Amino acid sequence: MKIFYERIKRVHDRVMRCYLSLDCTANCSFCSANIPKLSQERKEIWIPAIQWAEGLNRRHRKILLGGGEPLLYPQMTELLRLIAADIPIEIYSNLMPDISAVLASGRGLRWLISLHPAVKDYDKWYGQVERLIAAGHSVRFHVVKKVNWQERADFLKNKGFKVTCCDDQNSYNKSTMTNPGPVWCSTYYYVYGPDGWRYPCVTKMGLGIDKISHISDEDENDEIITQCDMFGSCAGCDNLIEGKVWSE
Ligand code: SF4
Ligand code: SF4
Repeated sequence: MKIFYERIKRVHDRVMRCYLSLDCTANCSFCSANIPKLSQERKEIWIPAIQWAEGLNRRHRKILLGGGEPLLYPQMTELLRLIAADIPIEIYSNLMPDISAVLASGRGLRWLISLHPAVKDYDKWYGQVERLIAAGHSVRFHVVKKVNWQERADFLKNKGFKVTCCDDQNSYNKSTMTNPGPVWCSTYYYVYGPDGWRYPCVTKMGLGIDKISHISDEDENDEIITQCDMFGSCAGCDNLIEGKVWSE
């Protein structure tokens, strides 16, 4: 057996990572989920809030809403009202779309907010942050160290926030190494696409291939093992997946 990549498995975080909408308001060159490369057809897919909520409430695990841009999901108010009140929800957003649908739900969320180069008017954008804080939401910020990242980080620091400055995940080894041919890949995350299907990884979720099980189905295994001929072109996000890649 030849091992190409291995990350020591930590305790499985069991977070439900729901990519509600793969559409986005930005087109970042460094996108670690490969969003700008996806087809328009894939970006327009979404499933009703009631279908998400039934599956999520049955599993009753912490939820992370992401995308693309999750605020573009058309039934956000309904979704937040339908998910059981005792399930913690975090949302990962660029905060460019209007947040009124979230505020209308009356539900407090934790936010991980990216300030990306696509934002041109920082003060207008920051108005949304103020609305969130006034409504009792908790916020934290990050910028990716690309383009004018220092300017964006300084803007937030001057507002009194700590800012995490992240490297471009696409520059990590797993994404850039020469394709070694078919491999076995094991992953442990719960990655659900906008169609409600669970996928082995963010790369395959974006493309809609190698579906595992649907949010409407019964619960599933933690670990997924798949044969894959795409290693070497994995999305940047998949560099962070706990697991192993090997060939026989
Ligand atoms: S805002 Fe986020 S999801 Fe959208 S293109 Fe940029 S990095 Fe990708
Ligand atoms: S594309 Fe997905 S399944 Fe294939 S090697 Fe990369 S992370 Fe593993």
